[in-house]
Amino acid sequence: MNYKEKIHFEIIVVGAGLSGIMLVWEILKNEQIKHTEILLIDKHQQEEAPRTWCFWDRGQSSFDKIITKSWRQAEMFASSSQIQIDMHPYQYKMMRSEHFFEYTLPYIQAQPTIQFRKAAVLDLLDDGNKVTVITDNGTYTANMVFDSRFPKETLENYNGTILYQQFTGWFVRTNNPSFDEHNLRLMDFRMLQDQKVAFCYLLPLSPKEALIEYTIFTDTLQPVEALEKGIEAYISQHYPDSPMHISSKEYGVIPMANFPAEKRSERIIPIGTAGGCTKASSGYTFSFVQQHTLHIIASLVANKIPEPYTSFIPRRFAFYDKVLLRVLKKHPEKGNEILFRLFKRNKTEAVISFLHNRSTIREELSIFTKLPVLLFLKAAITEWRNNEKNVRQMKQKEKYDLSV
Ligand SMILES: Cc1cc2nc3c(=O)[nH]c(=O)nc-3n(C[C@H](O)[C@H](O)[C@H](O)COP(=O)(O)OP(=O)(O)OC[C@H]3O[C@@H](n4cnc5c(N)ncnc54)[C@H](O)[C@@H]3O)c2cc1C
Repeated sequence: MNYKEKIHFEIIVVGAGLSGIMLVWEILKNEQIKHTEILLIDKHQQEEAPRTWCFWDRGQSSFDKIITKSWRQAEMFASSSQIQIDMHPYQYKMMRSEHFFEYTLPYIQAQPTIQFRKAAVLDLLDDGNKVTVITDNGTYTANMVFDSRFPKETLENYNGTILYQQFTGWFVRTNNPSFDEHNLRLMDFRMLQDQKVAFCYLLPLSPKEALIEYTIFTDTLQPVEALEKGIEAYISQHYPDSPMHISSKEYGVIPMANFPAEKRSERIIPIGTAGGCTKASSGYTFSFVQQHTLHIIASLVANKIPEPYTSFIPRRFAFYDKVLLRVLKKHPEKGNEILFRLFKRNKTEAVISFLHNRSTIREELSIFTKLPVLLFLKAAITEWRNNEKNVRQMKQKEKYDLSV
């Protein structure tokens, strides 16, 4: 049979974005499973606008070759104070999505075991032995499916706290040296905190080049023009003598919510943002996709069905995220103080571990005591009660389902 006409595969990956491509890349790099027959299906195939992915990393990774820049030092600004952060042993790394795809795709596409199809996946059906993938351009089957389609309906039906991280970024160039290229600006809160958390984030690429992003955490999406005004105001306030040439722009919205990201069935495993890899309280995703990919590879090598990301992370981290989101939604005017204090009063290494769901309970207790305790306690009690209520409702539903 012509390989192009093949319709059954060992694995089908839905979505050739960050998580789909990273998964296929790591399978191909693993001696024991590199011959797995895989079909990658994407409705766009890299037609989306390029993104800049940043993440903390404490070691080396196979993607270091395509890192645009990395930093060991960072600064943060509140309305009247400033802190300098030494991120050692971590580095903050920046990668452009187009470099990631240019680096991985030619190798992936050259492998005889990998097929690509441009199609929109409409449905996935697991019959207990195989999964049928229905697309607008053919039907395929696989032993296992990894699905990175964003679960819009799950988010719409989610009754927990949701905020949106909305941002616009400008790549700028100046005539005069204006930036300290060794010191990134993680969060600069020197702006009006009105019904939302607002800050600028500045990644200096050279003394004359930077990516400046204006970011808000909001429960109501703002028009893009409002974000553009925010970035313009920031630049004219802090760089009045450095006319800036904009070379490109980036725009994004990341939902911040602990929406459920469980398996739809034994053989359909959600990955990427769809698989719970976007940290609800920060929007960071890249490192969690890396962590999940490693878990999937280890499971495939051991001939086991992989679990979604959320099922092997201690549950307390999801609870912390819910509590922080609740506080930020209820008291957006306090967000700047909370996030600034988080870094100011704690060891940076412990904070970064905490942000990666890797801290110890001891480190977490130490962090919590340095935050506004009452505010967090109240939110924690509400979240705990909500959780109890949800568990009760689920048990009642199970009882009802069994009785009919
Ligand atoms: C502008 C922007 C900047 C970001 N910056 C950072 C950052 O600095 N650090 C960080 O950690 N995270 C960041 N994120 C969050 C996160 O890293 C990215 O959203 C990341 O791309 C998520 O990976 P993914 O695989 O889940 O989704 P995607 O990369 O979006 O891939 C999903 C793929 O599925 C395809 N698809 C969707 N529906 C279908 C369908 N029905 N059929 C077939 N294919 C389908 C899409 O075409 C897409 O290619 C950013 C997000 C945005 C939007």
